Amino acid sequence: MTATSTRFEGQLAPCGRKVDGERSQSEDLQGLITQEFAYDCGCRSGREEYHDGSVHHLIVHHNGKILVDEEFRGE
Ligand SMILES: [Zn+2]
Repeated sequence: MTATSTRFEGQLAPCGRKVDGERSQSEDLQGLITQEFAYDCGCRSGREEYHDGSVHHLIVHHNGKILVDEEFRGE
């Protein structure tokens, strides 16, 4: 499993604020790629890419409300 994380600055969070935060990406042995944006205001945005090509997308507002929770099937 490999994981990297980097800081970002002044990105537009799902709530509409411009905040700093941390972006992390990891890949496991099964080929699952997880990418997550953790905004300093508390918002989160995540994306999981499975080896079969399907993608799970999740966006959570810093008040705890789930804004997006969807899954796309791969070809
Ligand atoms: Zn926010």
